[in-house]
Amino acid sequence: MKIGFIGLGSMGAPMAANLAKAGHAVTGFDVTGVMPEGVSPAAGAAEAAAGRDAVITMLPNGAILRSVYGEIVPAAAPGTAMIDCSTVDVESARAVAAEAEAAGLLPLDAPVSGGTGGATAGTLTFMVGGSDEGFAKAAELFDIMGQKAVHCGAPGAGQSAKICNNMILGISMLGVCEAFSLADRLGLDRQAMFDVVSTSSGSCWSLNTYCPAPGVGPASPADNDYKPGFAAALMLKDLRLSQQAAEAADAPTPMGAAATALYEAFVAAGSGGKDFSAILPDLMARGRQ
Ligand code: NAD
Repeated sequence: MKIGFIGLGSMGAPMAANLAKAGHAVTGFDVTGVMPEGVSPAAGAAEAAAGRDAVITMLPNGAILRSVYGEIVPAAAPGTAMIDCSTVDVESARAVAAEAEAAGLLPLDAPVSGGTGGATAGTLTFMVGGSDEGFAKAAELFDIMGQKAVHCGAPGAGQSAKICNNMILGISMLGVCEAFSLADRLGLDRQAMFDVVSTSSGSCWSLNTYCPAPGVGPASPADNDYKPGFAAALMLKDLRLSQQAAEAADAPTPMGAAATALYEAFVAAGSGGKDFSAILPDLMARGRQ
């Protein structure tokens, strides 16, 4: 396939490199001018999108996505699969999909889970909104960049799945951090706490796989001085998207709102670059207010 790839940052660069390695002709564009190995440079977003079978975007937010779509929708040939892998608000995802559909293109919102490690290893999970035709056309690309792609429904369904998942993740990580902090103050051995909870009803990914307590459970950012991993600033971005969507849909999310407020304070205190599990040492350093 001829593929245009726009947004070659921490995630986009390794994803584009994997597509090129698999033998696809990838043409890339990023405002910084960076170009991963095997990817041919385009002078701009419109040039990257013109004459391709698929155009993939991996951009920071919905405003940038909308502005890039303003350039690439008129440039792309009818029938092009327009695959947006960025994490953005549901409204922006639906707006760019409507614009692309009206131009005879096949839009898909396809945000990912798996982080930069998954992007490099080609083991991302894609959650996808859009038409059956678009999903079928993009499937072989999802197979190269990831290990699983779930077709969640109509345009916006992929972003909806992503922000619901990450809202659970933010809430569950905070719950696990609070429990470890309480356990410490109760004099409970951390290893004993992990051994019990990881095989009891409190078990969850945040504890079993990504334990925020150093020296306990499988290796995680906690064992690497809380270097991300998944930065607290990115968790805050996703929690804010969940609250924006909840407000628009009139859905009650009191725990999501509390998690957003806690990460807002954490990031405002200068900790946005730390892993999102670094809430644990922060709680440990505080008393009950
Ligand atoms: P990043 O900031 O490293 O990359 C974004 C890239 O987009 C940058 O290289 C930037 O120069 C480029 N860009 C910005 N405006 C542009 C424009 N107008 N035209 C062309 N390029 C432009 O971010 P990232 O970590 O690669 O994340 C990308 C997206 O993936 C975000 O939406 C993020 O929420 C999501 N995501 C990130 C992770 C992660 O672990 N990093 C995991 C899952 C999802």
